[in-house]
Amino acid sequence: CGVFGVYAPGEDVARLTCYGLQALQHRGQESAGIAVGDGSTVIEAKDLGLVTQVFDEATLAGLGEGVVAIGHVRYSTSGGKASWEAAQPHISAIDDTLIALAHNGTLVNTNHLRAQLIDEGEHLRAGTDSEVAAKAIGHLTRQTHHLREGIRYAMENLEGAYAMVLASPEALYAFRDPHGIRPLCIGQLPEGRGWVVSSETCGLDIVGAEYVRDVEPGEMVRFTAEGMVSEQAVPPRPRASCIFEYVYFARPDSVLDGQSVYQARRAMGRILAEEAPVEADLVLGVPDSGVPAALGYSEASGVPFTDGIVKNRYVGRTFIQPTQAMRQLGIRLKLNPLPSVISGKRLVVIDDSIVRGNTSKKLVQMLRDAGAAEVHLRIVSPEVLWPCFYGIDTDTREQLIAANMTLEEMNDWIGSDSLAFISLDGLRASLADAGHDGFCTACFTGDYPVPIPDDVAKKSFL
Ligand code: 5GP
Ligand code: SF4
Ligand code: MG
Repeated sequence: CGVFGVYAPGEDVARLTCYGLQALQHRGQESAGIAVGDGSTVIEAKDLGLVTQVFDEATLAGLGEGVVAIGHVRYSTSGGKASWEAAQPHISAIDDTLIALAHNGTLVNTNHLRAQLIDEGEHLRAGTDSEVAAKAIGHLTRQTHHLREGIRYAMENLEGAYAMVLASPEALYAFRDPHGIRPLCIGQLPEGRGWVVSSETCGLDIVGAEYVRDVEPGEMVRFTAEGMVSEQAVPPRPRASCIFEYVYFARPDSVLDGQSVYQARRAMGRILAEEAPVEADLVLGVPDSGVPAALGYSEASGVPFTDGIVKNRYVGRTFIQPTQAMRQLGIRLKLNPLPSVISGKRLVVIDDSIVRGNTSKKLVQMLRDAGAAEVHLRIVSPEVLWPCFYGIDTDTREQLIAANMTLEEMNDWIGSDSLAFISLDGLRASLADAGHDGFCTACFTGDYPVPIPDDVAKKSFL
């Protein structure tokens, strides 16, 4: 998912949020929503669909003028369905006022928290982890009479990945889980016109905000008329920022924790060229995330880079479609090779990841149909062996091809002439500019920074 927030009295906060969400659209395409605080209450508009489908001039106008707004684009993770109830922001009532919450990440202790809240008389509709978090914050704020306390107590009880923005009628809050699993950054509008919070820096760029810094793990930041106030709401734990953000999820023009995503991808390609060289005529990348890595591979190997696969830019991210049938159709709709370039050539094809293997299998077949003499697949992430429980949909072990086949078996099944994955050390080495070296790599190693409770693990470790 993607989250965005702005505190800027005197600005069109709903519109700025709409632009911010458009820049974060790659992080989720199932639903979009905006909530605006106007000093006395919070109102929202949300629906299934892309940002431009959900928000037109009339919808934006309906949100009215405000001092603060937050927004969300949703990508549903395992088991989740696209439903209106699950669209965010989630609104909670606190006595006679309202708050709105938007969440990126996945909590692992939702069942436990939900049971507790129901016990204490709360009503839940969507049943998602994000709704549970919104209700928990509302519940705890009612008890402590201070929103900051409510958020802090909630943070003490939430386990898993959360980068959140919250709007009250008059203030913006942003907070990040103590491991810093999902990204969240702070920016400032020119001439002191206000503050912006975004999942990625590309959301700051689009509204003309200047990057200030990232939200720290366990930190809560509040923006009001008095400016920005920070507190360490919960003690930080060992840093475990999602390494997959750099491989696939984030936009290449974003900078996460000091590391440019584009430069990281290019470095991954260079490193992979050293780790897994092959004699070939051309290097090409699978659009979009494979392309910078292909440039890097070409740079380090001397094999010329070329375009060779055209992507239909009106088709969304195939992986994000919730069913296998939709995914399989999606790949065919999205990618088309250029026979005039690749016919008769030995190709090195760079992709970001292999999860279930659908993309690679279809792609290799398409390239062969287009006349490629050889297809050597090179992947800039290690074998995905374990499911993600922190907000990226990598399914059960049963569905992860690398968890069920040897490298040779995968190469045969996919139909490539050779197949190689970057090493984990190689991937880490591509992130030298990050302000830390604490990355979550659980989907490659099974070493989960936040323990997975049995009720969640059961279904997925099959
Ligand atoms: P597969 O077809 O092997 O199941 O999926 C891998 C492909 O899906 C890659 O080409 C990657 O670009 C794309 N993809 C889309 N969303 C995701 C995601 O959330 N995680 C990963 N690892 N790959 C994704
Ligand atoms: Fe990211 Fe993988 Fe960790 Fe999930 S398990 S947070 S995808 S590194
Ligand atoms: Mg891809």
